Amino acid sequence: MRLIDLIQAKREANKIGPIRNEGFDGWFACPKCQQFLEKKVFLSHHKVCPLCDHHVRMGALERIELLADPGSFNEKYSSIVAKDPLEFNDTKAYKDRVKEAQKDTGLKDAVVTGTAKISGVLVALAAMDFQFIGGSLGSVVGEKLTRLIEEAILDRLPLVIFSQSGGARMQESIFSLMQMAKVSQAIKRFHEAGLFFISVLTDPTMGGVTASYASLGDVILAEPKALIGFAGRRVIEQTIKQKLPDDAQTAEFQLKHGMIDRIVARKEMKREIHTLLKHFEGA
Ligand SMILES: [Zn+2]
Repeated sequence: MRLIDLIQAKREANKIGPIRNEGFDGWFACPKCQQFLEKKVFLSHHKVCPLCDHHVRMGALERIELLADPGSFNEKYSSIVAKDPLEFNDTKAYKDRVKEAQKDTGLKDAVVTGTAKISGVLVALAAMDFQFIGGSLGSVVGEKLTRLIEEAILDRLPLVIFSQSGGARMQESIFSLMQMAKVSQAIKRFHEAGLFFISVLTDPTMGGVTASYASLGDVILAEPKALIGFAGRRVIEQTIKQKLPDDAQTAEFQLKHGMIDRIVARKEMKREIHTLLKHFEGA
């Protein structure tokens, strides 16, 4: 069967209208249900598959665009870039790895930070990006988050962090691991100032990010089916010599076991965060 006929058959089976003549560039195959979708339909659903509700990963800038009131985002600390104190080489030099990630993503590092309004409420906002070396927590991510939190304390702003990370940035070794303590200390001071932090875990939130600031929110939200955990499944199974349940390390499993407070669909996220911000305003 020709691909175009296959697409048409899938569309008919899913009760979607006829194909418009846009060529294959305008198509996207859902990684979960494998159904073909028009890219513009997929994008109009904020990268959520309308057929199976799979939440495809979203970049930091897309996330901010979805959440912030138009024109309200004021990016901060964007000039901070990674150094290479260890002169680290794995399959390639760390310096080159960073340069490539910068070129591929248009970002300077794995988090974008600033202030924005969410339905009129001014917040300190950070969004991580898995596309940038696995969204890894290195010294730049740690420094940007810490500065954001310290400024939020001075300006008495609530804080919203969207995490999306494989964990610590191995190429920075101890400099990366120290960021867990640094950001956590900043959040402690933020809490002592009586301010409100919403942590949102998106697919995936793992390793040192889960083990530090992502788990320190006053309220912890997650996107549906997001992978959330510390070590990977294989490492845990080999260590404890037991098989993990199939749904272990999903947002749903973490909710059931009290690790997160609520699962929120992407299309509801802005409204949910706004409701929480208003609820805790002046509390
Ligand atoms: Zn799907």
